[in-house]
Amino acid sequence: MRRLDILFAASTLALAACGPKPVPVTPATTPHAPIDLNPFEGAKMYVNPDYVAAVDSVAKNHPADAALLKKIAQYPTAIWLSWIKDTKNLPKYLDDAQAQQDAGGKPVVPTFVVYDIPGRDCNAEASAGELDLSETGEARYQRDYIDVIAAAVAAHPKVRVAFVVEPDSLANLVTNMGNAKCQAAEPYYKRGIAYAVAKLSLPNAFLYLDAAHAGWLGWPKNIVKAVQIYKDVLVMAGGPDRIRGFATDVSNYNPAKDSTAPPRVPEYPPNDELGYVADLAKLLPTVGISGKAFVIDTGRDGRANIKTTGANWCNIKGAGLGERPQASPAPNVDAYLWIKVPGESDGVADSKAPRYDANCSSDDATPVAPQAGDMFETYLIDLAKNAAPPLQ
Ligand code: BGC
Repeated sequence: MRRLDILFAASTLALAACGPKPVPVTPATTPHAPIDLNPFEGAKMYVNPDYVAAVDSVAKNHPADAALLKKIAQYPTAIWLSWIKDTKNLPKYLDDAQAQQDAGGKPVVPTFVVYDIPGRDCNAEASAGELDLSETGEARYQRDYIDVIAAAVAAHPKVRVAFVVEPDSLANLVTNMGNAKCQAAEPYYKRGIAYAVAKLSLPNAFLYLDAAHAGWLGWPKNIVKAVQIYKDVLVMAGGPDRIRGFATDVSNYNPAKDSTAPPRVPEYPPNDELGYVADLAKLLPTVGISGKAFVIDTGRDGRANIKTTGANWCNIKGAGLGERPQASPAPNVDAYLWIKVPGESDGVADSKAPRYDANCSSDDATPVAPQAGDMFETYLIDLAKNAAPPLQ
């Protein structure tokens, strides 16, 4: 090695040595939430005031649709913690939920989406995150993200909080291991999610691990692999009792219930999310995960069969708001929730923009979409117009 190279290597090592180091994941033994309580039952779902304001400003820009848009503002939506900076707002929402609950005399339950795993969105570009697949990325996920969320929730012990944990990540490990990025992500995803579950399973926190959707993990060969991965992660986290259950159809479009579908073909995925949830409820106990409940994202599933291929996911044309958020809509289902925030984009359609993913200019994708997470005003109007049941 030349002298300069040696110096460079030494300083890189020194830098790496200074960076934060992840702690090992140890199975949690602290008290968790009651496993037999549906947190949404007898409760009010928290309405995000920031979303109400966002919808309001879309309404101002589109006076002809304002009356319709205003109807959306009454419904609860999940709050995504997609970046470390989003955790700063958590105490504000929790204080607000607590105040509303004190005033109204019944639980007010916010739903948060934990979504900042290192190497996020390993099989797509649109939602690439801020943390990389490195010791520093893992340590920051633990210390600057999960620990901060856990502390805020622990400081509001009277508020029941629902968490949807890391959409798409473990599902990518089931089907996308041919992708080098997903392969590299595997140990980070497993340890990261185990850490999140161990830390966030507080007495007032109800966790739903993401289980993708019927058209993805519902294929017989996929679901078998998926439940094994859930088991491995939950063992690392301290056991299946750490979670209340699983979330399905997050940011996707399959109907919760499709009574018009043809009879089920066994080699194919179930026709709808209720079918998928029933399959999960049957298979999970075979790996020792019993008695789990489910939440289903119905935010964009009002209209069935809107994709030309099941694999498309970005800002699908023709989508409509689905069933309204509600507790206990079906056996084993804790709630229908609007998890993907209606109107927020899945990814940018401009092929020259950062984080461009080709799926966002597929034949099914709505053109001229902004960056993932940004309000896509005309898409929100379409969702409202296509709502099924219609908005009242
Ligand atoms: C985006 C996030 C956003 C979330 C909710 C995801 O597709 O990557 O940034 O918060 O959707 O709209």
